[in-house]
Amino acid sequence: MTERRTVLIAPAWPYANGPRHIGHVVGFAVPGDVLARFWRLRGARVLMASGTDEHGTPITYEADKNGIPPKDFADRNNALIVDDLVRLGMTYDIFTRTTTANHYRVTQDLFLKLFERGYLVKKKQMGAFDPATGRTLPDRYIEGKCPICGYPEARGDQCDNCGNQLDPADLINPHQRGSDAPVEFHETEHFFFDLPAFGDQLKAWIEQHGNWRPNVRKYSLEYVRNLKPRAITRDLDWGVPVPLPGWEDNPSKKIYVWFDAVIGYLSASIEWAINSGKPDAWKEWWDNPESHHYYTMGKDNITFHTVMWPAILMGAGDLHLPDEIVASEFLHMEGRKFSTSRGQVIYVKDVLDQYDPDALRYYLMIAGPENQDTDFTWSEFVRRNNDELVATWGNLVHRTLVNAHRNFGAVPQPGNLTGIDESLIKEVEAALDEVAKHLQEARFQNALKLAMGIASRVNVYLGTEQPWHTIKSDRERAGTVLYVALRCVDNLKTMLTPFLPFSSQRLHAMLGYEDVIAPQPDVREFSENGASHTVITGEYEAVDRWRPSQLEPGRTLPAPQALFKRLDDVSEEEPPPSS
Ligand SMILES: [Zn+2]
Repeated sequence: MTERRTVLIAPAWPYANGPRHIGHVVGFAVPGDVLARFWRLRGARVLMASGTDEHGTPITYEADKNGIPPKDFADRNNALIVDDLVRLGMTYDIFTRTTTANHYRVTQDLFLKLFERGYLVKKKQMGAFDPATGRTLPDRYIEGKCPICGYPEARGDQCDNCGNQLDPADLINPHQRGSDAPVEFHETEHFFFDLPAFGDQLKAWIEQHGNWRPNVRKYSLEYVRNLKPRAITRDLDWGVPVPLPGWEDNPSKKIYVWFDAVIGYLSASIEWAINSGKPDAWKEWWDNPESHHYYTMGKDNITFHTVMWPAILMGAGDLHLPDEIVASEFLHMEGRKFSTSRGQVIYVKDVLDQYDPDALRYYLMIAGPENQDTDFTWSEFVRRNNDELVATWGNLVHRTLVNAHRNFGAVPQPGNLTGIDESLIKEVEAALDEVAKHLQEARFQNALKLAMGIASRVNVYLGTEQPWHTIKSDRERAGTVLYVALRCVDNLKTMLTPFLPFSSQRLHAMLGYEDVIAPQPDVREFSENGASHTVITGEYEAVDRWRPSQLEPGRTLPAPQALFKRLDDVSEEEPPPSS
């Protein structure tokens, strides 16, 4: 690589309403970390910035149910989510929160910029309120009798019995979900973001990106065909204040959560720069046409990243637009949708209490919903772990290192390489470039399948050459074969590090290296205006290491350990016991 690239990794912001399940992290988290680790291994300047999304009615609703203030509820869930992400090895440069003073300021600045440029329009509409609190009631929190079929528990947005779309004002005897509390309707005034003003520009911009996944282009082009102004303020006491006279002191008008959440990518980057003591450093990513921005998410989040956020950036006028929209399809569980409310869920924490993070990361990336909805089953989790991580990659590493360590104690000095030795090395080195091309374009499964196929090839080579037999008659040839295999293993380690950082770091040490190839994140506290908040961050060296292995003969090799654990087979669809 000639020039140093500047790469922003922007994983979607998890909503602070509970711990993460594997259907969440397969979309925003692991793909984002794989890209961040890959680009750092190529020596790029990477900024991975995100945090928890903490405003909005679902937070106030759940906080009320728990009898605690919304901020306390968000604090509790932020801590759970931080723990999930750190244990998964997510190398955020900054993972912050939308309740920081910095985020409020950046959100208000962008609001004012759009207001001054005439992109915000005031409109009156009818709104549904809780008369006890004065808060807006979202459509789905209102229930009543369906005016069409008479079903008594129709929701404000739709009747589950007859399937008709409804308006909350149409319901007969509307009341709040789960109680008899009344609902009030009255006129209310709000600011709307003039999305249609950006319609042509958005359409042309989306059409330019022929490389986006088909789902991303399809949803986005459908959406821009029929843009309407979108409310960016709400009747709510929990959120970023509206920075205008007559509004900012009104305790029941706030900026709408969708607007402040997407601005988080920018505000987190600014916070990272401030925390690093280089307050303007965020501009290297945001005010730089040469930088490259990846956004990772589940498919339910696409239009926020291809329509709403780009329109805000276009309205602001001088900030870098998204380059890559890496959206996953949905992960199901035994054929059904993940659902926290129905207990149909597998939490990240519960998986990591029993299994290694690399086993989960591997499964999610090789068998996850990269291009189509997929199903998580425990039997497939066990099969992938045992057949692929243990029997293919782990076995290659193990027999190579055990034989080299036992017979030589070091990287053996090779004799003359045969044509077979040389062509294997060439094939593995060529794969290094191929895997890089796949990863640049976020084709994770192609990258992983290629690397695992190469691991199988090297296993076949060892099986044919049998250095464990040759050692008895021809020590030099056995040493040459093990040297070739060690170089291949070293190259495969580079290709697999973005996916399998924990085991790759252990392998790096077993190959006699003393430095860090796969850093892990830290949790720190940062203070601002006397209040402190938790941030995931880390020191992640970015050195161009995506190069063919130059393992020196003679380097001492420590005693190797197994990289992966075999799991017991399961016949029923439940988690296997861990050994
Ligand atoms: Zn109905």
